Amino acid sequence: MRHRVELGTKVRLDDIDASDTGGYADRAAAAVELARDVARLDELQDRLYAENTRSLLVVLQAMDSGGKDGTIKHVMSGVNPIGCQVTSFKSPSEEEADHDFLWRIGKALPRRGNIGIFNRSHYEDVLVVRVHDLVPPSVWRERFDQINRFERLVSELGTRVLKFYLHIDRDEQKRRLQARLDDPNKTWKFSPADLAERQRWNDYREAYDDVLTKCSTEWAPWFVVPANKKWYRNLVVARTIVKTLEEMDPRPPRPTVDPKKIVID
Ligand code: ATP
Ligand code: MG
Repeated sequence: MRHRVELGTKVRLDDIDASDTGGYADRAAAAVELARDVARLDELQDRLYAENTRSLLVVLQAMDSGGKDGTIKHVMSGVNPIGCQVTSFKSPSEEEADHDFLWRIGKALPRRGNIGIFNRSHYEDVLVVRVHDLVPPSVWRERFDQINRFERLVSELGTRVLKFYLHIDRDEQKRRLQARLDDPNKTWKFSPADLAERQRWNDYREAYDDVLTKCSTEWAPWFVVPANKKWYRNLVVARTIVKTLEEMDPRPPRPTVDPKKIVID
């Protein structure tokens, strides 16, 4: 699938164009396809829910203002909320910090028949944790392999895992942060902490390059989604989820009754 990080590729985000639109001229050119994918996603989710055996996990990672929230809002706009949960991972609570880094992740995995969305994830434990020296390198370095093994088990047990890195460039982040300051309806989203993180742009780049290089596996692939253009970002994420669900081909269980033999008076 497009934008998938193939096993064994050394990723350098600086070499990937965040403004790529995959040949679509503009928003209008992609609109019909996006609407079709969003509708198709609804249909497939219904089948996944009815089948009630497997589930799908969608991991979203990005720099601040990369568009995680907007992606969820648009791509999932057609799905029935009953079969979908979003979990946002913040700095660990006291209870979370008293456990291993995958404890809170395991608890948030989607139940059978559901789509689970992670707004940030266990990858923070090799990103922000690395950039801010929250644990020694000997600890976070082990985590790439621990994560791969964890995701393998998760997928073996019936949860398909898709991971999206929403790729914006530094200029686009500047525009978006400025837009939050300029629009009173968006100012609540602005946090001075975002500026401090922006100072560490290169450190995050390096940490993301490693994540994408080391943790894109056959069972839990990463996708680098060009995300400067929000409409293209939405299209890529929606399309990838739809294709994956089509491949999973969920089927409602066989009826336990013969409908022809039932009379409702
Ligand atoms: P938005 O992009 O809309 O601002 P957000 O995901 O940035 O949403 P915030 O509440 O602003 O939400 O930030 C959550 C913060 O928690 C992030 O800075 C993130 O790096 C941090 N965080 C998440 N997981 C961990 C972790 N395991 N250890 C330390 N910090 C973490
Ligand atoms: Mg934030």
